Amino acid sequence: MRLTLSCLKADVGSVGGHTRPSRAMMDKVQGIVDWAKKQGYILDGRAFYTGDDINLVLSHTRGQNSGDIHLGVALQAFKEATRIAQETGLYGAGQDLLVDAPAGNIRGAGPAVAELTFEHNLAGNRPAESFLVFAADKCGPGAYNLPFYLAFADPMYCSGLTLVPKMKQGFRFSIIDMDEASHDSIIVLDAPDDLHDIVALLRDNERFAIESITSRTYQDQQAVSVSAQRLHNIAGAYTGKDDPVAIVRNQGIFPAPEEIMLPWSIGHFVGGGARGSHQMPIMPVPVGTPVTGPYCLPLVSAIGFSLAQDGTFAGEYVDFFDNPAWDYVRLEVQRKGLEMRRQGFSGAAMLPFSELEYTGLQEIFKDLLPRFGERRDRPGHSHLAEANKSTS
Ligand code: MG
Ligand code: MG
Repeated sequence: MRLTLSCLKADVGSVGGHTRPSRAMMDKVQGIVDWAKKQGYILDGRAFYTGDDINLVLSHTRGQNSGDIHLGVALQAFKEATRIAQETGLYGAGQDLLVDAPAGNIRGAGPAVAELTFEHNLAGNRPAESFLVFAADKCGPGAYNLPFYLAFADPMYCSGLTLVPKMKQGFRFSIIDMDEASHDSIIVLDAPDDLHDIVALLRDNERFAIESITSRTYQDQQAVSVSAQRLHNIAGAYTGKDDPVAIVRNQGIFPAPEEIMLPWSIGHFVGGGARGSHQMPIMPVPVGTPVTGPYCLPLVSAIGFSLAQDGTFAGEYVDFFDNPAWDYVRLEVQRKGLEMRRQGFSGAAMLPFSELEYTGLQEIFKDLLPRFGERRDRPGHSHLAEANKSTS
């Protein structure tokens, strides 16, 4: 069968500030997913949360950008969760639902979407189908650039690139220019041939993001899909960081989970954190972790699924970051985060002016910049003092 995996994410309200959705919201959302399965809209589905974002993982045969899936299931679930958030006075109720009645599908309406489609028959080069779902909070889609680059293009992190003949040709990266707001602007580059070009783009997490990665040996086999769209480009004003989701198929012709996981031990600095305006290291956490740490360390979760022949999820998933090995990483990341926080507002600790999500600094500058005056150095005469005297 032609199977599509859809991961849809929205922040529609949370308890005690932007921490996590309420249990009542999650029960409602999972109830709608269960209903959609019973009605035959989807083959299987799971709802979970990472930080303040609700994520739906759905398998189905309706293809990408399906109105049934996007509007009939996901938007319905997000609206019901919004209603509960409003009734119970939660923070940011309905925040990511920017368009009241989106036409066709949910893309561009606020929620993040990652989807990929493949022939699912548990035969040929995919005798087993396993995949990971990543969800990150308090950061943008560029947060996936370094970890996915290392897992799919760097033999220092992915030994499969040399050990597995079917991976030796490498992978094809589709990269989006997120500064282009009027249309999707994409470049396709091959690793390892175009490695340095890929690096030149992925260096800039705020502007460029990996959108998809495909096998070069089997060009119909897509490994990765990232929700690489920017909310502030859609809404035209601050609505929070994009908090991206990603689907990553693994094993066989793709990197193994351990190769995909290793780069997350770096705890690399990404744009996000408090008020979406800082550089903070990203911390790998189990799903269901609220954002309650000092200054909103960006969080990432990763859960793994197996697909049965009928497209169902084997009844359960495994939480990759819920393992003692990651306790050490978390402590290291927290240490890095606090070290950066010691310099407060200064320099690299905060995002550059063009990337700031709040307008406060712009307003301060609007007031201050006209008040600068040219110094005319004359002995015993202060032009500025003169000017200040005449305005006081
Ligand atoms: Mg939020
Ligand atoms: Mg969020």
